[in-house]
Amino acid sequence: MTGAQDAPGPAGAGAAGVDPAAPAAPAVLAALRAETLRRLTALGAGVADVVEAAQGANTDDEHDPEGATIAFEREQLRALAARARAQLAEIDVALARVAAGTYGRCEVCGEAVGAGRLEARPTASRCIRHA
Ligand SMILES: [Zn+2]
Repeated sequence: MTGAQDAPGPAGAGAAGVDPAAPAAPAVLAALRAETLRRLTALGAGVADVVEAAQGANTDDEHDPEGATIAFEREQLRALAARARAQLAEIDVALARVAAGTYGRCEVCGEAVGAGRLEARPTASRCIRHA
């Protein structure tokens, strides 16, 4: 028997390129903004439709079940539109923060908000501790 079989492993470098949360955010935010705008437009059209239907129905909400449904739908659409508008405002704030170079930093402590958090919520302006 000659020698031990000690096979030296291949000199492979296992250095994983750690990217320090490079904010590819502007693209994400732009896409999000476009999507939200589209949703808002669709909702606006929906509200107009429902309002028109309500006017065309020529009935009072009190007694006609359909009138109540229309009122309900209108309320739903209005709530959705309000949410979309609020999100749009958040996105605009986030974009302003990108322009100012403060995006991805907590507005309270200045620490990094965290890539995972930004991925889940691209408009986050605070770290998880100050959320
Ligand atoms: Zn913070």
